[in-house]
Amino acid sequence: MSIVAQSLSRIKPSPTIAVTDLARRLKAEGRDIIGLGAGEPDFDTPEHIKEAAIAAIRRGETKYTNVDGTPELKAAIARKFERENGLKYTPQQISVGSGGKQVLYNAFMATLDPGDEVIVPAPYWVSYPDMVLLAGGTPVFVRCPENTGFKLQPQDLEAAIGPKTKWVILCSPSNPTGAAYTREELKALTEVLVRHPHVWVMTDDMYEHLVYDDFVFTTAAQVEPRLYERTLTVNGVSKAYCMTGWRIGYAGGPVEIIKAMAMVQSQSTSNPCSISQAAATAALDGDQGFIAKHNAVFKERRDLVVRELNRAPGLRCHKPEGAFYVYPSCAGVIGKRTPEGKRIESSEDFARYLLESVGVAVVHGSAFGLDPYFRISYATATPVLEEACRRIVRACEALA
Ligand code: PLP
Repeated sequence: MSIVAQSLSRIKPSPTIAVTDLARRLKAEGRDIIGLGAGEPDFDTPEHIKEAAIAAIRRGETKYTNVDGTPELKAAIARKFERENGLKYTPQQISVGSGGKQVLYNAFMATLDPGDEVIVPAPYWVSYPDMVLLAGGTPVFVRCPENTGFKLQPQDLEAAIGPKTKWVILCSPSNPTGAAYTREELKALTEVLVRHPHVWVMTDDMYEHLVYDDFVFTTAAQVEPRLYERTLTVNGVSKAYCMTGWRIGYAGGPVEIIKAMAMVQSQSTSNPCSISQAAATAALDGDQGFIAKHNAVFKERRDLVVRELNRAPGLRCHKPEGAFYVYPSCAGVIGKRTPEGKRIESSEDFARYLLESVGVAVVHGSAFGLDPYFRISYATATPVLEEACRRIVRACEALA
């Protein structure tokens, strides 16, 4: 008999972390590997944020804090929600956890009973289905094909809602596709949700600030105030503030759910790191100017990757609105043979071929629930990205 719980047989390790770890290991073995798997900015945490953390240490802010966030950070988050999203949340309506990941996990743990369904638009961020399963719920996938811009359509949302639906997850800009909903697109979805008062909305706004070409970000509770009482607005400092290692995420929502999430956290990890909370306060309250500078670089890289990948025989790359991912189709290489004579049967085979033949690590689309695609993170230095694209084009040209 295995010591491992049966419930774990329903989930799998994060495939994106697995690809990143593999790329790191091969690199350590001396192989020339370019990792395009990791979902984190290559930019360093801005100096004023680091200084705030150092000052917090010097002030002795090295003890336990309130379980779901210091009053200072909650106040900064409340200001952020009001300033950027037009949403009013009191400190009692705000929860801070160790990364957006923990906040989402707490929310599912705090709300799902066996049989409860969660609508997950596919392609999805890899952790949603497994978090839902761990919490005892059932993910219900809705396909969002490329010809819809990888975006959930109102009629498909309507069709997926049933009596057991507890949540729908909206992730915009999206990991893995970079797709982002315009205000009108979001409004069309919220109109469906207004008609189904038992369904709650979990919006994952982690990539809010990473949008290009004058795209205007909006979030569900802002677009449709009637959903405010049943929306959990999730966000964090990891991506926009280049703070992936600091582990701070947060959410705003109704007091009842925020309290329940604090209970889960109080019996698991307790407060997020006190020093990181001080840093996140400085991030949210401080100068935001660097975000636009980073975005200018990200936009250039997006355009570069889209242009170059569209030159690769068998690939087709759409141009997303935001985040730092592209999700190209590799349908055109399926069935082709590698120079060694191996047939490419799936996006997984293609990703393995890229890694083995040209040393480029990408994540296969089956991990995100819509295939045959693969995900590239372009949050990496531009010359490295240029080289990666050259290698991918070369690898595709070598297929027959
Ligand atoms: N949500 C999405 C869509 C993400 O891509 C990520 C990170 O990759 C997270 C949440 C979690 O972010 P954090 O690093 O703050 O836990």
